[in-house]
Amino acid sequence: MDVTEKQQTLLRMLPGVDYILELSKEDPFFNNIPKSVLVRSIRSVVENLRTIIMDDKQDITDTKLSGSIILETVKNSVKQAMTSNLKRIVNATGVVVHTNLGRSILADDAVENLLTIASRYSNLEFDLSTGVRGSRYSIVEDILCEISGAEAAMVVNNNAGAVLLCLETLSNGKKVIVSRGELVEIGGSFRIPDVMAKSGGILKEVGTTNRTHRDDYENAIEHDTGLLLKVHTSNFSVVGFAADVSLEELVALGAKYQIPVMEDLGSGTFVDFSKYGLLKEPTVQESVASGADVVTFSGDKLLGGPQAGIIVGKKDILGRIKKNPITRALRIDKLTLAALEGTIRHYRNIDREMDSIPTLRMLTLPVGHIETKATELAKLLENTGDSRMSVKLMDLSSRPGGGSFPLLKLPSKGVGVTVRGVSVNFIEKKMRDNDIPIIGRIEEDRFIMDLRTILDDELPVIKKAFENMLRKV
Ligand SMILES: *Cc1c(COP(=O)(O)O)cnc(C)c1O
Repeated sequence: MDVTEKQQTLLRMLPGVDYILELSKEDPFFNNIPKSVLVRSIRSVVENLRTIIMDDKQDITDTKLSGSIILETVKNSVKQAMTSNLKRIVNATGVVVHTNLGRSILADDAVENLLTIASRYSNLEFDLSTGVRGSRYSIVEDILCEISGAEAAMVVNNNAGAVLLCLETLSNGKKVIVSRGELVEIGGSFRIPDVMAKSGGILKEVGTTNRTHRDDYENAIEHDTGLLLKVHTSNFSVVGFAADVSLEELVALGAKYQIPVMEDLGSGTFVDFSKYGLLKEPTVQESVASGADVVTFSGDKLLGGPQAGIIVGKKDILGRIKKNPITRALRIDKLTLAALEGTIRHYRNIDREMDSIPTLRMLTLPVGHIETKATELAKLLENTGDSRMSVKLMDLSSRPGGGSFPLLKLPSKGVGVTVRGVSVNFIEKKMRDNDIPIIGRIEEDRFIMDLRTILDDELPVIKKAFENMLRKV
């Protein structure tokens, strides 16, 4: 590509990294900035300007290339580099278990436990009653058994790990029978057939997408069948002419041929949500009571705890799983254990403690409560007194998320905002750029915030974000 004369002039005017570095010494802002951060920021700003000049699409004036202007840009870039990349955000999407936004937020007890264990030594692998080495897996095993009715339990890093570990232990080199209707993809490239392949299990598909019968499983059983697997179709639903085989039937079949039965519940829950006016999701207790040998589920979906994979089931099978060396690679961290224990203790008394677990509280929040919050937010925003802003209360429907309740839409309330002279995309971006980013959505040409997932103390944060934005437009 030919470089024009104008481009050559601009390139010659573009200051070098060393020059800007010298210049930065005169500004006290840069005094305590680590040199590595400063140099990287300067390089990237100068490189960016060089690219703009070479592209020749934007009009660059020579003032833009002055040392002091460049230093201002460097300052912004340094500020960004010095703040944490993992930030708290306001979830205004209404999706309660939003995988991109960290799934579940923790119960107060879980957070308290987490802080204590994080800042102190603990009996993670030390048996306080005997004074000898213990196992980290014993920390939540009893309570998981108590709540689920299972004989044994263990926890690993996440449910994908739990599934992999169980398949590797039970099916390595053998056939695993699964219904075609349950070969699910969870998202983020977790697909049951792929995990199966990695585990060494050989997938034996039976039935059709919409209908699978007991005979399909039975006819597929051979001498080298290692496992019957049922997967909860978390994030979709087959409706219409559909049939599947219940876990009880699979367990009976497994007993007849002495083949273990596993169920991957995905978003496992101990709560019967139909009691709270939601649709029914299968509970862990029911799967255990059906006689499944092993049941796996996530810690941070409907359970409302930290990221973890929970495995409950029969003692002998769990014993084999615990001995698998892969366990070590999927080992649960002590911070997770602390948060998990703080969460699951609530399940002993869950009917009274639903509200202690934010995920459960948000899922069952009465629409009247949401409306009160929405009205409050609308008032706060109107009080900014900017006549360009229009604030509207809106009927919305929120989604549970987390690969659960695929068909359920929860009636909710929200606030929609427009600002005269400003595009809704601009509002959305400004909210996303806020120091505490506010993640909403655009609908009907308004910036929409669903109050189901917004915490009370976040209302002033939203107000301030709008005030800051209005000051600048
Ligand atoms: C979500 C899900 C998984 C994966 O669980 P993670 O906790 O994300 O690792 C596995 N199986 C099913 C059916 C799921 O819904």
